[in-house]
Amino acid sequence: MTGTLIVGGTVVDVDGSRDADVRVDAFGRVCEVAANLLPAAGETVADATGRLVIPGGVDAHTHLHLPVGTVRVSDDFDTGTRAAAMGGTTTIIDYVTAYRGEDPLHAALTWKGWAEPSVIDWGLHMTFTEPVSEATIARCIEAGMTSFKLYMAYPDLLQVDDRTIAEIMMATARHGGLVTLHCENGGAIEALRAQALAAGRRGVPEHSATRPAVLEGEATHRATAIAESVGAAVYIVHMSSAPALVEVRRAQERGVRVLAETCPQYLHLDVSALARPDGANFVCTPPLRDPWHREELWHGMSRGWIHTVATDHCPFWAADRAAGFAGDEAAADFTAIPGGLPGIETRMGLIWDGVAAGRITVEDWVRLCSEAPARTFGLWGTKGALRPGFDADVVVWDPQRTQSLDADALHMAVDHSPYAGRTCTGWAERVWSRGRLVADRGRFVGEPGWGRYLERGPALLEPVG
Ligand code: MN
Repeated sequence: MTGTLIVGGTVVDVDGSRDADVRVDAFGRVCEVAANLLPAAGETVADATGRLVIPGGVDAHTHLHLPVGTVRVSDDFDTGTRAAAMGGTTTIIDYVTAYRGEDPLHAALTWKGWAEPSVIDWGLHMTFTEPVSEATIARCIEAGMTSFKLYMAYPDLLQVDDRTIAEIMMATARHGGLVTLHCENGGAIEALRAQALAAGRRGVPEHSATRPAVLEGEATHRATAIAESVGAAVYIVHMSSAPALVEVRRAQERGVRVLAETCPQYLHLDVSALARPDGANFVCTPPLRDPWHREELWHGMSRGWIHTVATDHCPFWAADRAAGFAGDEAAADFTAIPGGLPGIETRMGLIWDGVAAGRITVEDWVRLCSEAPARTFGLWGTKGALRPGFDADVVVWDPQRTQSLDADALHMAVDHSPYAGRTCTGWAERVWSRGRLVADRGRFVGEPGWGRYLERGPALLEPVG
Protein backbone atom coordinates (compact mmCIF):
# COMPACT_ATOMS: atom_id res chain seq x y z
CA MET A 1 0.00 0.00 0.00
CA THR A 2 1.34 3.43 -0.92
CA GLY A 3 0.70 6.53 1.11
CA THR A 4 -2.05 9.02 0.42
CA LEU A 5 -2.11 12.79 0.62
CA ILE A 6 -5.57 14.32 1.05
CA VAL A 7 -5.28 17.93 -0.04
CA GLY A 8 -7.32 21.10 -0.05
CA GLY A 9 -9.96 20.25 2.52
CA THR A 10 -11.03 21.65 5.86
CA VAL A 11 -9.94 19.31 8.63
CA VAL A 12 -12.31 19.08 11.60
CA ASP A 13 -11.43 17.20 14.77
CA VAL A 14 -10.58 17.74 18.43
CA ASP A 15 -7.91 20.24 17.36
CA GLY A 16 -10.53 22.44 15.72
CA SER A 17 -11.40 23.33 12.14
CA ARG A 18 -8.57 24.46 9.85
CA ASP A 19 -7.54 24.30 6.23
CA ALA A 20 -5.01 21.51 6.16
CA ASP A 21 -3.77 18.53 4.17
CA VAL A 22 -3.61 15.06 5.68
CA ARG A 23 -0.72 12.71 4.93
CA VAL A 24 -1.34 8.99 5.41
CA ASP A 25 1.66 6.67 5.51
CA ALA A 26 2.02 3.26 3.89
CA PHE A 27 1.12 1.61 7.22
CA GLY A 28 -2.31 3.20 7.29
CA ARG A 29 -1.59 5.84 9.91
CA VAL A 30 -1.93 9.58 9.86
CA CYS A 31 1.61 10.99 9.78
CA GLU A 32 1.20 14.70 9.09
CA VAL A 33 -1.60 17.28 9.22
CA ALA A 34 -0.57 20.74 8.03
CA ALA A 35 -1.25 23.35 5.38
CA ASN A 36 0.33 23.13 1.93
CA LEU A 37 1.96 19.71 2.12
CA LEU A 38 3.76 18.57 -1.02
CA PRO A 39 3.17 15.06 -2.37
CA ALA A 40 6.05 12.63 -1.95
CA ALA A 41 7.14 10.25 -4.70
CA GLY A 42 4.62 7.48 -5.25
CA GLU A 43 1.99 9.04 -3.03
CA THR A 44 -1.64 9.00 -4.16
CA VAL A 45 -3.17 12.48 -4.05
CA ALA A 46 -6.85 12.86 -3.20
CA ASP A 47 -8.46 16.24 -3.74
CA ALA A 48 -10.78 17.40 -0.95
CA THR A 49 -11.21 20.99 -2.07
CA GLY A 50 -14.47 22.39 -0.77
CA ARG A 51 -14.99 19.36 1.45
CA LEU A 52 -14.52 18.52 5.10
CA VAL A 53 -11.90 15.98 6.18
CA ILE A 54 -12.91 14.26 9.40
CA PRO A 55 -11.96 11.26 11.52
CA GLY A 56 -14.14 8.31 10.53
CA GLY A 57 -17.31 7.84 12.51
CA VAL A 58 -17.31 5.58 15.58
CA ASP A 59 -20.66 3.88 16.16
CA ALA A 60 -20.51 2.60 19.72
CA HIS A 61 -23.83 0.74 19.73
CA THR A 62 -24.65 -1.86 17.08
CA HIS A 63 -26.28 -5.28 16.85
CA LEU A 64 -25.16 -7.30 13.83
CA HIS A 65 -25.95 -10.95 13.08
CA LEU A 66 -27.80 -11.18 16.40
CA PRO A 67 -30.40 -13.95 16.81
CA VAL A 68 -33.61 -12.55 18.35
CA GLY A 69 -36.30 -15.09 19.22
CA THR A 70 -37.01 -17.14 16.11
CA VAL A 71 -35.39 -14.65 13.68
CA ARG A 72 -32.06 -12.88 13.22
CA VAL A 73 -31.02 -9.28 12.71
CA SER A 74 -30.98 -8.85 8.92
CA ASP A 75 -27.50 -7.31 8.67
CA ASP A 76 -24.49 -9.50 9.36
CA PHE A 77 -20.98 -8.12 9.94
CA ASP A 78 -20.26 -8.06 6.20
CA THR A 79 -23.35 -6.19 5.00
CA GLY A 80 -23.62 -4.09 8.15
CA THR A 81 -20.05 -2.84 8.11
CA ARG A 82 -20.18 -2.15 4.33
CA ALA A 83 -23.21 0.03 4.95
CA ALA A 84 -21.46 1.72 7.87
CA ALA A 85 -18.47 2.53 5.66
CA MET A 86 -20.68 3.90 2.88
CA GLY A 87 -22.16 6.34 5.38
CA GLY A 88 -18.82 7.48 6.85
CA THR A 89 -18.47 5.18 9.86
CA THR A 90 -15.15 3.33 10.14
CA THR A 91 -15.39 1.75 13.61
CA ILE A 92 -18.23 -0.07 15.30
CA ILE A 93 -18.58 -1.52 18.78
CA ASP A 94 -21.09 -4.37 18.84
CA TYR A 95 -22.85 -5.73 21.91
CA VAL A 96 -22.13 -9.31 22.93
CA THR A 97 -24.82 -10.79 25.17
CA ALA A 98 -23.90 -13.47 27.71
CA TYR A 99 -27.23 -15.07 28.54
CA ARG A 100 -27.87 -16.52 32.00
CA GLY A 101 -25.74 -19.56 32.62
CA GLU A 102 -23.45 -18.79 29.68
CA ASP A 103 -19.71 -18.10 29.96
CA PRO A 104 -19.20 -14.49 28.77
CA LEU A 105 -15.81 -15.25 27.21
CA HIS A 106 -17.39 -18.10 25.26
CA ALA A 107 -20.14 -15.77 24.05
CA ALA A 108 -17.45 -13.33 22.90
CA LEU A 109 -15.81 -16.08 20.82
CA THR A 110 -19.14 -16.64 19.05
CA TRP A 111 -19.31 -12.92 18.21
CA LYS A 112 -15.69 -12.88 17.03
CA GLY A 113 -16.50 -15.66 14.60
CA TRP A 114 -19.48 -13.73 13.27
CA ALA A 115 -17.43 -10.54 12.97
CA GLU A 116 -14.63 -11.97 10.81
CA PRO A 117 -16.04 -10.64 7.49
CA SER A 118 -16.13 -7.06 8.79
CA VAL A 119 -14.83 -4.51 6.29
CA ILE A 120 -13.96 -1.93 9.00
CA ASP A 121 -12.48 -2.23 12.50
CA TRP A 122 -14.70 -3.48 15.27
CA GLY A 123 -14.75 -3.85 19.02
CA LEU A 124 -17.06 -5.62 21.42
CA HIS A 125 -18.94 -4.62 24.55
CA MET A 126 -20.04 -7.36 26.94
CA THR A 127 -23.59 -7.63 28.28
CA PHE A 128 -24.13 -9.41 31.60
CA THR A 129 -27.60 -10.72 32.42
CA GLU A 130 -26.86 -12.01 35.94
CA PRO A 131 -24.35 -11.36 38.74
CA VAL A 132 -20.75 -12.12 37.73
CA SER A 133 -17.47 -12.54 39.59
CA GLU A 134 -14.83 -9.84 39.61
CA ALA A 135 -12.52 -12.38 37.92
CA THR A 136 -14.92 -12.52 34.95
CA ILE A 137 -14.86 -8.74 34.67
CA ALA A 138 -11.06 -8.77 34.79
CA ARG A 139 -10.89 -11.46 32.08
CA CYS A 140 -13.16 -9.45 29.79
CA ILE A 141 -11.02 -6.35 30.27
CA GLU A 142 -7.86 -8.33 29.50
CA ALA A 143 -9.58 -9.49 26.30
CA GLY A 144 -10.15 -5.88 25.26
CA MET A 145 -13.82 -5.63 26.26
CA THR A 146 -13.71 -2.77 28.73
CA SER A 147 -17.39 -1.84 28.86
CA PHE A 148 -20.27 -3.82 30.30
CA LYS A 149 -23.91 -3.36 29.53
CA LEU A 150 -26.64 -4.03 32.03
CA TYR A 151 -30.40 -3.91 31.46
CA MET A 152 -32.91 -2.37 33.85
CA ALA A 153 -35.73 -3.81 31.67
CA TYR A 154 -36.73 -7.19 30.19
CA PRO A 155 -36.90 -9.20 33.45
CA ASP A 156 -37.54 -12.51 31.67
CA LEU A 157 -34.26 -12.54 29.79
CA LEU A 158 -31.92 -9.64 30.49
CA GLN A 159 -32.75 -7.46 33.51
CA VAL A 160 -30.52 -7.38 36.58
CA ASP A 161 -31.47 -5.95 39.98
CA ASP A 162 -30.06 -2.84 41.62
CA ARG A 163 -27.69 -4.80 43.85
CA THR A 164 -26.15 -6.45 40.78
CA ILE A 165 -25.82 -3.07 39.05
CA ALA A 166 -24.05 -1.62 42.09
CA GLU A 167 -21.72 -4.59 42.51
CA ILE A 168 -20.78 -4.75 38.82
CA MET A 169 -20.19 -0.98 38.81
CA MET A 170 -17.88 -1.29 41.83
CA ALA A 171 -15.86 -4.14 40.35
CA THR A 172 -15.75 -2.55 36.89
CA ALA A 173 -14.49 0.74 38.30
CA ARG A 174 -11.68 -1.09 40.12
CA HIS A 175 -10.49 -2.49 36.76
CA GLY A 176 -10.79 0.71 34.72
CA GLY A 177 -13.92 -0.31 32.84
CA LEU A 178 -17.24 1.42 32.28
CA VAL A 179 -20.81 0.21 32.83
CA THR A 180 -23.39 1.11 30.20
CA LEU A 181 -27.06 0.93 31.15
CA HIS A 182 -30.37 0.42 29.38
CA CYS A 183 -32.57 2.65 31.54
CA GLU A 184 -36.23 1.71 31.68
CA ASN A 185 -38.18 0.44 34.69
CA GLY A 186 -38.71 -3.17 33.57
CA GLY A 187 -41.09 -4.18 36.35
CA ALA A 188 -43.58 -1.39 35.80
CA ILE A 189 -43.39 -1.87 32.03
CA GLU A 190 -44.24 -5.57 32.35
CA ALA A 191 -47.29 -4.64 34.42
CA LEU A 192 -48.43 -2.08 31.82
CA ARG A 193 -47.97 -4.58 28.98
CA ALA A 194 -49.95 -7.27 30.80
CA GLN A 195 -52.70 -4.77 31.55
CA ALA A 196 -52.90 -3.70 27.89
CA LEU A 197 -53.15 -7.30 26.66
CA ALA A 198 -55.77 -8.17 29.30
CA ALA A 199 -57.85 -5.22 28.10
CA GLY A 200 -57.57 -6.38 24.49
CA ARG A 201 -55.25 -3.53 23.47
CA ARG A 202 -52.94 -5.35 21.07
CA GLY A 203 -52.04 -2.78 18.40
CA VAL A 204 -48.57 -1.50 17.54
CA PRO A 205 -48.99 1.90 19.29
CA GLU A 206 -49.32 0.02 22.61
CA HIS A 207 -45.58 -0.63 22.34
CA SER A 208 -44.99 3.03 23.08
CA ALA A 209 -47.95 3.53 25.44
CA THR A 210 -46.69 0.78 27.76
CA ARG A 211 -43.12 2.17 27.91
CA PRO A 212 -43.74 5.79 28.98
CA ALA A 213 -40.92 8.32 29.15
CA VAL A 214 -41.45 8.78 32.89
CA LEU A 215 -40.23 5.21 33.42
CA GLU A 216 -37.10 5.97 31.41
CA GLY A 217 -36.58 9.03 33.59
CA GLU A 218 -37.03 6.98 36.77
CA ALA A 219 -34.52 4.34 35.70
CA THR A 220 -32.04 7.00 34.56
CA HIS A 221 -32.30 8.64 37.98
CA ARG A 222 -31.71 5.29 39.68
CA ALA A 223 -28.75 4.55 37.43
CA THR A 224 -27.09 7.87 38.19
CA ALA A 225 -27.83 7.55 41.93
CA ILE A 226 -26.26 4.10 42.07
CA ALA A 227 -23.22 5.34 40.13
CA GLU A 228 -22.89 8.31 42.48
CA SER A 229 -23.17 6.15 45.59
CA VAL A 230 -20.46 3.72 44.49
CA GLY A 231 -18.21 6.42 43.02
CA ALA A 232 -18.33 5.07 39.47
CA ALA A 233 -18.96 6.63 36.09
CA VAL A 234 -21.96 5.46 34.08
CA TYR A 235 -22.88 5.61 30.39
CA ILE A 236 -26.59 5.74 29.50
CA VAL A 237 -27.33 4.02 26.17
CA HIS A 238 -29.98 5.16 23.68
CA MET A 239 -31.50 7.99 25.70
CA SER A 240 -34.81 8.88 24.06
CA SER A 241 -36.67 11.36 26.20
CA ALA A 242 -36.70 14.65 28.08
CA PRO A 243 -37.31 13.09 31.53
CA ALA A 244 -34.15 11.02 31.10
CA LEU A 245 -32.18 14.07 29.94
CA VAL A 246 -33.33 16.00 33.02
CA GLU A 247 -31.94 13.25 35.25
CA VAL A 248 -28.66 13.22 33.34
CA ARG A 249 -28.31 16.97 33.78
CA ARG A 250 -29.15 16.87 37.47
CA ALA A 251 -26.55 14.17 38.03
CA GLN A 252 -23.92 16.02 35.99
CA GLU A 253 -24.59 19.18 38.00
CA ARG A 254 -23.89 17.36 41.26
CA GLY A 255 -20.65 16.00 39.86
CA VAL A 256 -21.60 12.48 38.83
CA ARG A 257 -19.67 11.28 35.79
CA VAL A 258 -22.70 10.37 33.68
CA LEU A 259 -22.35 10.14 29.91
CA ALA A 260 -25.44 9.95 27.74
CA GLU A 261 -25.85 8.50 24.26
CA THR A 262 -28.78 9.22 21.98
CA CYS A 263 -29.63 7.88 18.51
CA PRO A 264 -30.77 9.47 15.24
CA GLN A 265 -34.21 7.84 15.46
CA TYR A 266 -34.99 9.83 18.61
CA LEU A 267 -33.89 13.04 16.86
CA HIS A 268 -35.75 12.56 13.56
CA LEU A 269 -38.81 10.34 14.17
CA ASP A 270 -41.75 10.42 16.56
CA VAL A 271 -44.41 8.15 18.01
CA SER A 272 -46.97 8.92 15.30
CA ALA A 273 -45.11 6.44 13.04
CA LEU A 274 -46.39 3.53 15.16
CA ALA A 275 -49.97 4.27 14.05
CA ARG A 276 -49.09 3.90 10.35
CA PRO A 277 -50.04 0.73 8.43
CA ASP A 278 -46.32 -0.16 8.50
CA GLY A 279 -46.02 0.88 12.15
CA ALA A 280 -44.37 -2.43 13.08
CA ASN A 281 -41.30 -1.22 11.17
CA PHE A 282 -40.91 1.60 13.72
CA VAL A 283 -40.85 -0.55 16.84
CA CYS A 284 -37.69 0.07 18.85
CA THR A 285 -36.86 0.30 22.53
CA PRO A 286 -37.00 2.79 24.14
CA PRO A 287 -39.91 3.67 21.86
CA LEU A 288 -40.27 6.71 19.64
CA ARG A 289 -41.61 9.64 21.68
CA ASP A 290 -43.82 12.70 21.21
CA PRO A 291 -42.12 15.23 18.90
CA TRP A 292 -41.19 17.75 21.60
CA HIS A 293 -38.66 15.34 23.13
CA ARG A 294 -36.60 15.68 19.94
CA GLU A 295 -36.12 19.39 20.50
CA GLU A 296 -34.87 18.74 24.03
CA LEU A 297 -32.40 16.13 22.77
CA TRP A 298 -30.96 18.39 20.04
CA HIS A 299 -30.60 21.12 22.64
CA GLY A 300 -28.87 18.69 25.00
CA MET A 301 -26.41 17.78 22.24
CA SER A 302 -25.58 21.41 21.56
CA ARG A 303 -25.01 22.07 25.27
CA GLY A 304 -22.76 19.05 25.82
CA TRP A 305 -25.16 17.27 28.20
CA ILE A 306 -25.44 14.47 25.64
CA HIS A 307 -22.06 12.93 25.00
CA THR A 308 -22.38 10.64 21.97
CA VAL A 309 -24.64 9.62 19.11
CA ALA A 310 -24.75 5.91 18.27
CA THR A 311 -27.32 3.95 16.29
CA ASP A 312 -28.52 0.89 18.23
CA HIS A 313 -28.59 -0.50 14.67
CA CYS A 314 -30.83 -3.59 14.86
CA PRO A 315 -32.67 -4.14 11.56
CA PHE A 316 -35.15 -6.87 10.66
CA TRP A 317 -36.77 -7.85 7.38
CA ALA A 318 -40.35 -6.58 7.30
CA ALA A 319 -41.62 -10.16 7.07
CA ASP A 320 -39.77 -11.07 10.26
CA ARG A 321 -41.28 -8.10 12.07
CA ALA A 322 -44.75 -9.02 10.86
CA ALA A 323 -44.33 -12.66 11.89
CA GLY A 324 -45.78 -11.95 15.31
CA PHE A 325 -48.87 -10.53 13.66
CA ALA A 326 -49.11 -12.90 10.71
CA GLY A 327 -49.07 -16.21 12.56
CA ASP A 328 -52.16 -16.64 14.70
CA GLU A 329 -54.24 -13.54 13.98
CA ALA A 330 -56.26 -13.87 17.18
CA ALA A 331 -53.21 -14.22 19.41
CA ALA A 332 -51.07 -11.61 17.61
CA ASP A 333 -50.04 -8.58 19.61
CA PHE A 334 -47.49 -5.79 19.86
CA THR A 335 -45.27 -7.76 22.24
CA ALA A 336 -44.37 -10.23 19.44
CA ILE A 337 -42.70 -7.67 17.12
CA PRO A 338 -38.88 -7.84 17.12
CA GLY A 339 -37.74 -4.34 18.02
CA GLY A 340 -34.93 -2.27 16.51
CA LEU A 341 -34.30 0.04 13.58
CA PRO A 342 -31.73 0.18 10.77
CA GLY A 343 -29.34 3.12 11.07
CA ILE A 344 -25.67 2.17 10.81
CA GLU A 345 -25.38 3.84 7.37
CA THR A 346 -27.46 6.96 8.00
CA ARG A 347 -26.11 8.20 11.35
CA MET A 348 -23.48 10.62 10.08
CA GLY A 349 -25.87 12.10 7.51
CA LEU A 350 -28.79 12.46 9.91
CA ILE A 351 -26.65 14.23 12.51
CA TRP A 352 -25.03 16.39 9.81
CA ASP A 353 -28.60 17.46 9.12
CA GLY A 354 -28.49 19.14 12.54
CA VAL A 355 -25.34 21.03 11.47
CA ALA A 356 -27.01 22.17 8.26
CA ALA A 357 -30.07 23.27 10.25
CA GLY A 358 -27.93 25.24 12.73
CA ARG A 359 -28.86 23.06 15.73
CA ILE A 360 -25.26 21.95 16.45
CA THR A 361 -21.86 23.01 15.16
CA VAL A 362 -19.66 21.04 12.81
CA GLU A 363 -17.27 20.50 15.74
CA ASP A 364 -20.16 19.13 17.85
CA TRP A 365 -20.93 16.69 15.03
CA VAL A 366 -17.40 15.30 14.93
CA ARG A 367 -17.20 15.16 18.73
CA LEU A 368 -20.55 13.37 19.15
CA CYS A 369 -20.09 10.90 16.28
CA SER A 370 -16.38 10.13 16.42
CA GLU A 371 -14.17 11.69 19.07
CA ALA A 372 -16.29 11.15 22.20
CA PRO A 373 -17.17 7.50 21.49
CA ALA A 374 -13.50 6.77 20.75
CA ARG A 375 -12.37 8.38 24.01
CA THR A 376 -15.11 6.86 26.12
CA PHE A 377 -14.61 3.34 24.89
CA GLY A 378 -10.83 3.08 25.12
CA LEU A 379 -9.89 3.78 21.51
CA TRP A 380 -8.19 7.16 21.96
CA GLY A 381 -4.75 7.26 20.42
CA THR A 382 -6.01 5.15 17.54
CA LYS A 383 -9.51 6.34 16.59
CA GLY A 384 -11.50 9.55 16.79
CA ALA A 385 -9.03 12.21 15.61
CA LEU A 386 -6.66 13.00 12.73
CA ARG A 387 -3.54 13.41 14.83
CA PRO A 388 -0.21 11.89 13.77
CA GLY A 389 -0.03 8.28 14.92
CA PHE A 390 -3.78 7.72 14.82
CA ASP A 391 -5.22 5.20 12.38
CA ALA A 392 -5.96 6.79 9.02
CA ASP A 393 -9.70 6.26 9.30
CA VAL A 394 -10.59 9.31 7.26
CA VAL A 395 -13.77 10.60 5.66
CA VAL A 396 -13.95 13.26 2.99
CA TRP A 397 -17.38 14.72 3.66
CA ASP A 398 -19.12 16.66 0.90
CA PRO A 399 -21.67 19.08 2.37
CA GLN A 400 -23.35 19.25 -1.05
CA ARG A 401 -23.56 15.54 -1.82
CA THR A 402 -27.14 14.26 -1.80
CA GLN A 403 -28.21 10.80 -0.71
CA SER A 404 -31.70 9.32 -0.82
CA LEU A 405 -32.69 7.56 2.41
CA ASP A 406 -34.96 5.07 0.61
CA ALA A 407 -34.10 1.45 1.41
CA ASP A 408 -33.06 0.63 -2.17
CA ALA A 409 -30.66 3.59 -2.30
CA LEU A 410 -28.84 2.40 0.84
CA HIS A 411 -26.67 -0.65 1.51
CA MET A 412 -28.06 -2.11 4.72
CA ALA A 413 -29.62 -5.56 4.33
CA VAL A 414 -33.17 -4.47 5.06
CA ASP A 415 -36.25 -3.89 2.90
CA HIS A 416 -37.62 -0.77 4.54
CA SER A 417 -36.24 2.56 5.70
CA PRO A 418 -37.56 4.62 8.61
CA TYR A 419 -36.54 7.70 6.60
CA ALA A 420 -38.05 6.70 3.24
CA GLY A 421 -38.84 9.69 1.07
CA ARG A 422 -36.18 11.86 2.65
CA THR A 423 -32.91 13.02 1.13
CA CYS A 424 -29.80 14.04 3.02
CA THR A 425 -27.70 16.92 1.69
CA GLY A 426 -24.21 16.23 3.00
CA TRP A 427 -22.76 12.71 2.75
CA ALA A 428 -19.51 10.78 2.78
CA GLU A 429 -17.69 11.09 -0.54
CA ARG A 430 -14.61 8.98 0.14
CA VAL A 431 -13.82 6.83 3.15
CA TRP A 432 -10.52 5.21 4.20
CA SER A 433 -10.09 2.49 6.80
CA ARG A 434 -6.47 2.42 8.07
CA GLY A 435 -5.38 4.09 4.86
CA ARG A 436 -7.27 1.74 2.56
CA LEU A 437 -10.00 3.31 0.44
CA VAL A 438 -13.27 1.49 1.25
CA ALA A 439 -15.97 3.81 -0.12
CA ASP A 440 -15.55 5.99 -3.18
CA ARG A 441 -18.36 8.30 -4.34
CA GLY A 442 -21.19 5.85 -3.76
CA ARG A 443 -19.22 2.71 -4.59
CA PHE A 444 -18.01 0.17 -2.06
CA VAL A 445 -14.36 -0.67 -2.79
CA GLY A 446 -13.32 -2.38 0.45
CA GLU A 447 -12.97 -6.07 1.19
CA PRO A 448 -14.50 -8.51 3.66
CA GLY A 449 -12.08 -9.38 6.45
CA TRP A 450 -10.14 -6.10 6.27
CA GLY A 451 -11.58 -5.03 9.61
CA ARG A 452 -9.61 -5.92 12.73
CA TYR A 453 -10.71 -6.65 16.26
CA LEU A 454 -9.93 -3.69 18.52
CA GLU A 455 -8.62 -4.53 21.97
CA ARG A 456 -9.94 -1.54 23.82
CA GLY A 457 -8.29 0.19 26.76
CA PRO A 458 -9.75 2.00 29.75
CA ALA A 459 -12.36 4.73 29.33
CA LEU A 460 -10.90 8.24 29.02
CA LEU A 461 -13.41 10.33 30.95
CA GLU A 462 -11.60 13.64 31.19
CA PRO A 463 -11.52 16.17 28.35
CA VAL A 464 -8.52 15.71 26.05
CA GLY A 465 -5.91 18.42 25.55
MN1 MN B 1 -29.13 -1.99 21.80
